[in-house]
Amino acid sequence: MKTPDNVKINGIVYTIIAKRDFELRDNVGTTFAWQQEIHLNKESPPTQRASVLLHEILHAISHEYLGADEDLNETQVTGLTAGLRNVLVNCGINLIDMVSEGLE
Ligand SMILES: [Zn+2]
Repeated sequence: MKTPDNVKINGIVYTIIAKRDFELRDNVGTTFAWQQEIHLNKESPPTQRASVLLHEILHAISHEYLGADEDLNETQVTGLTAGLRNVLVNCGINLIDMVSEGLE
């Protein structure tokens, strides 16, 4: 499955942009909620990239559904990412498929 070019969250289109290691300054992914952009490190391994994409999508969901003042913090997003990833994997959903192609 090709990495999506964008995700729509509460009607807002977040563009997924492939970045290289040095462009992200040692980060694996970043969400810029005000610009509606998710930057994803295309040089990271697919397993990590899939988790990072899920993590960044949760940041965007937090921003769009809870509002900037009630945004989930990093610990909360990290915990929800691990829990959601576990549920999806147990349901037979292979997250690596989500990022196995594309992201040029
Ligand atoms: Zn985060």
